Amino acid sequence: MSIRETSYNQIQVAIIGAGLGGLCLAQGLKKNGIGFRVFEKDQSADSRTQGYRIRIDKTGQDALAQCLPQHLYKLFSETSIPSVGVRTLNAQLEQLTDKWIDAWQDGLADEQPDQKANRLTMREILLHDLDGRVHFNKKYFNHEKLADGRVRIHFEDGTSYTADVVVAADGVNSKLSASRFPDNKLVDTGSVCVYGKTFYSVEAQKQIAPALQTGTAVVFEDEVAMIADAMQFDSKPIIINDQDKPAYNLSPTEDYMYWALIGNRSRFGLREEQELTFAPGELDGCLKKVITTWDPALSALFEFANPETLTMVPVKTSLPTDKWESNNVTALGDAIHAMSPAGGLGANTALYDAAILCEGLTRVASGQVNLLAAIAAYEEKMREHSINAINESQQGGQKLYKQASTN
Ligand SMILES: Cc1cc2nc3c(=O)[nH]c(=O)nc-3n(C[C@H](O)[C@H](O)[C@H](O)COP(=O)(O)OP(=O)(O)OC[C@H]3O[C@@H](n4cnc5c(N)ncnc54)[C@H](O)[C@@H]3O)c2cc1C
Repeated sequence: MSIRETSYNQIQVAIIGAGLGGLCLAQGLKKNGIGFRVFEKDQSADSRTQGYRIRIDKTGQDALAQCLPQHLYKLFSETSIPSVGVRTLNAQLEQLTDKWIDAWQDGLADEQPDQKANRLTMREILLHDLDGRVHFNKKYFNHEKLADGRVRIHFEDGTSYTADVVVAADGVNSKLSASRFPDNKLVDTGSVCVYGKTFYSVEAQKQIAPALQTGTAVVFEDEVAMIADAMQFDSKPIIINDQDKPAYNLSPTEDYMYWALIGNRSRFGLREEQELTFAPGELDGCLKKVITTWDPALSALFEFANPETLTMVPVKTSLPTDKWESNNVTALGDAIHAMSPAGGLGANTALYDAAILCEGLTRVASGQVNLLAAIAAYEEKMREHSINAINESQQGGQKLYKQASTN
């Protein structure tokens, strides 16, 4: 079976992966009247935990403003929380004055502070009104070049789709990107990130240090670091059904404290090559290895964490690659440049890519430039921008927890 596009007669773009970058591109293409389809392997938007809060900096906000229709960008702003008040602490909750990570700017000092978004809400906003052009349960299998230059993508369920341009937006372990860009090297940094959510129960509020219950706290301690972000939506209407707007039907969410610990494997008692799959309760043991000596008002953050939200992921990073020859299969986001979450830049870089790729494809659709020239120009900008972001994330990891160098 093959799904054919009928409603647009310009270029057809196939986006593999409905993550933040792929959906931002889809919104931008829709805004500019360009035909697209998005293919996502998951069954639905919320069938996988991809982190809970996501910080969107000025670059990411500008990209969203460019790609989203005004009402959806407004909704993004209304449902996210400006980041103000960053504290740096040690594990005894003493204030540190000599530690700072540039990527986590303090909104009090910034004209355009980072926005802390609930990731699922943001994804639901990005999925809004895509007119049935996002197909879930479609796992990319392989692709072939047709005689007329177009590309046919095959999915694991045996279906296929033919497009003029294919964009790998399928994240860090992208199969499409690995076959299209075999020289692009992805390495495991030997570090891991454990993250979760702690809800504001009465007991949790009594036991957890007040410094962790508002704003942002960054804790630096012996080859491990933690970021905690208070996600308090009280003044934010998370379900918006305004009379003059379509109903957005966003999933309700309650206030929570998001936290993420990052450090070298050995700090969590893990062996170098150990698989990161855990039986229920096992991940707790890894956490305990880190926090035993921490102030009880800090370790309470983990003790009261919702066990279902605990997740551990390996920290991978791409290595900068030389220029390649462009064709009509390209990539954006983690699929082409994964980076450590230590800089908080991965999603922002994916959104940046989406905005500049959308700009290029819009120029193609209006006949200002040919397709291959537009893709080559996009890849040039994307490569330059992402090399800086990878380096900044690497430096962030070194400052935070002495992350080993991958260069
Ligand atoms: C704990 C943590 C915190 C983070 N915090 C931040 C932050 O605050 N700010 C920031 O900028 N970045 C942050 N990041 C990084 C950020 O999450 C990623 O860089 C970002 O999600 C990349 O977006 P993407 O669209 O490229 O890929 P993803 O968001 O990973 O989306 C890829 C999509 O492709 C789908 N897919 C995969 N394989 C296939 C296939 N074969 N066929 C079809 N679909 C497929 C996946 O299911 C997924 O939906 C964080 C990361 C972690 C782990």
